[in-house]
Amino acid sequence: MKYICKTTEPENFRLWKNRNKGANWDDFSKTSEHGELRNRLIEEQQRMCCYCEVLIKLEDSHIEHLKPKGNPSYRKEMFLYENLLASCQFKDSCGVKKFGWYEPDMVSPLNENCSGRFTYTSDGSIIPSDKNDIWAEKTIEKLGLNCRRLRDRRMSIIRGLDNNGKGPDSAYLKAVIKEILEGKNSWSFGFYTVVIYLAAAYDIVMESEG
Ligand SMILES: [Zn+2]
Repeated sequence: MKYICKTTEPENFRLWKNRNKGANWDDFSKTSEHGELRNRLIEEQQRMCCYCEVLIKLEDSHIEHLKPKGNPSYRKEMFLYENLLASCQFKDSCGVKKFGWYEPDMVSPLNENCSGRFTYTSDGSIIPSDKNDIWAEKTIEKLGLNCRRLRDRRMSIIRGLDNNGKGPDSAYLKAVIKEILEGKNSWSFGFYTVVIYLAAAYDIVMESEG
């Protein structure tokens, strides 16, 4: 799970909210402002799903409410930009699987240290970095982050970058990480934290980190 640093909401979204006080999400979902907002969220996340980091596009994503819009306790946050993310549409994970679930203690992509709460194994499984971290465990379960599809996808990325166990090309790995850090979109496989995991496993250190 990659940390998402929220930027500012699109101006047209702000104006729409001002013009449509008391509107519900269904009204909003039919507007052009909704598409514009979704695009902004996808860009903000460097085209990666907020939970699983698979690459997403406008056509295969939805706007995800971290605090569920169907829960009366979070009604006020339905249109709050800080509560909105872009999720993939797969049924076995992420926003669709999470549905109405939310816990303040869950690991969220809006927690600055979220990526540090998880690590991977060479077969592509995601596990809590600390085996006693029950909320990391619960988050993996509730978001389906260890489903077969995601495990297989991560394993193939690890094997590809790792040259099937012969070890990664460290210059290439550094270049990929640098491009993602600079906000470039040339890396077309998503799963940024898997790339970081592999670099750490081989003690590949970015220059800026010393
Ligand atoms: Zn996802």
